[in-house]
Amino acid sequence: MSLYHFGENRTEKRLTMQKNKTPIGYKTMNRRNFLQLSSVLALESILFGSSVHASSLSSDASAFHLVIIGGGIGGATAAKYMRLLNSEVKITVIEPNKEYMFCPGSNEILPGWATVKDQTVTYTTLKNRYKVNFIHTKAEHVNYRKKQVSLENDTVLSYDKLIVSPGVSFDYGAIEGYSRELAEKSFPSAWKLDAQTLLLKKQILSLPKGGRVIISVPKSPYRCPPAPYERATFIVHMLKESNPTAKVTILDANDDFVFDNVYPYYWEKHFNFGKKNASLERVAAKDGGTIVKLNAAKKVLINSEGKEFKGDVLNIIAPEKAARFAFDNDLTEGDWCPVNYKDFSSTKHKDVYVIGDAIISDPMPKTGYVAANQARVVVQAINDELHGKQIGTPFIVNDCIAMVEQDFGMTLSEIFRYNGENKPLKARDYIPGVDKQKFQQKMLGSLAEDWQKTFRQSIFS
Ligand SMILES: Cc1cc2nc3c(=O)[nH]c(=O)nc-3n(C[C@H](O)[C@H](O)[C@H](O)COP(=O)(O)OP(=O)(O)OC[C@H]3O[C@@H](n4cnc5c(N)ncnc54)[C@H](O)[C@@H]3O)c2cc1C
Repeated sequence: MSLYHFGENRTEKRLTMQKNKTPIGYKTMNRRNFLQLSSVLALESILFGSSVHASSLSSDASAFHLVIIGGGIGGATAAKYMRLLNSEVKITVIEPNKEYMFCPGSNEILPGWATVKDQTVTYTTLKNRYKVNFIHTKAEHVNYRKKQVSLENDTVLSYDKLIVSPGVSFDYGAIEGYSRELAEKSFPSAWKLDAQTLLLKKQILSLPKGGRVIISVPKSPYRCPPAPYERATFIVHMLKESNPTAKVTILDANDDFVFDNVYPYYWEKHFNFGKKNASLERVAAKDGGTIVKLNAAKKVLINSEGKEFKGDVLNIIAPEKAARFAFDNDLTEGDWCPVNYKDFSSTKHKDVYVIGDAIISDPMPKTGYVAANQARVVVQAINDELHGKQIGTPFIVNDCIAMVEQDFGMTLSEIFRYNGENKPLKARDYIPGVDKQKFQQKMLGSLAEDWQKTFRQSIFS
């Protein structure tokens, strides 16, 4: 990836792009040369420690202003990588929370292989080292005509470009009888790292002898496709010693799933999967796995044919759609946000880009890795446009990892290429078969662990 562009002949184009505003660095040759030099110095100082130049330049009131809504994986990556590309722009992230709970790896909190603390990251490095401004409140309304965002704390911010990465909202009401209140108190969804994750852990640890945990999986698309199967596997491990007659049942609104070449292999070997005394069973959509109703009083889930499944712990992963902000601000079509895949600009509003779980992404899965790579494509496109360069044709990589136990991991790689206007991206994937050699399983296990740490650092450090 190129980090900074000094293309020829770009001043005029930039000036036409910025009708009423002359952003810093676009005035005269001398000033531009000075700024080019200071950009390089600033970039170097960002990369190698101090960040004096970025600090002074990015606080300039006339600087090009990139506003980012959402400081999750997509938004935080966009902020950091925009700064690496360009030390002059002012970058502001609107994010209500002061810390971010990192979901990749969060299933490991259940068996105790990771703690909430391990999964918590702060914005300190982005603020101090990369000179990103954070406003810890919610964004409420965008005035696209005036290019302004109103915040919950009554501030109004002007932007030159707006990146929106607000994640998903949970459609608890799509399952009759289920609600956010029930998810928080009794039947956790636990599909972002919060108190529901800890409630689920507590419930599993106090499961009655021979009890049953049910995980209901919504129809795709939902965030992190392999995570329900990873979670189910971890829960069986948790119960193996203390409650060996307990069962985990996956009620699945899908027939196929990612890594369905590996999980069943492991389950058959270790959990008697497919036999009468299995400690883990799965009901696929074609066999009635789609849940439509909850009878909370009886702890029963009911499928579309009226069949009942009783459990002691119900982990109902609620169906998802784009975050509320996207609906309130006319960024959606159906449940998700439409974008142009060349640069992830919204098809609905100019100078607005939407990335991450909130977009219509198929064939890209909704993963953090994909969100981060979409963020890199967007900031490169914005920076290219700023410098009068033609934007390139992107390709997005997804590196997916999952575990069955600490010493057995799996990975897959997918590439999504731009396929022309109004067309979905073209996918090519590489899904390795099951590694039956112990040392290879172990190697993939430690690769998966390292991947999570490296990925986290690539955004927040
Ligand atoms: C159990 C689990 C395991 C996972 N494991 C993996 C994995 O191994 N690998 C992987 O790649 N992905 C994994 N994921 C998926 C990954 O977490 C998501 O795909 C990723 O977080 C999407 O990034 P995002 O920026 O779209 O949304 P998020 O990271 O959810 O960020 C959205 C942010 O927007 C903020 N926001 C929302 N509304 C507003 C508003 N109005 N104003 C301001 N801010 C707002 C939120 O507070 C939030 O911080 C996992 C997910 C789960 C649930």
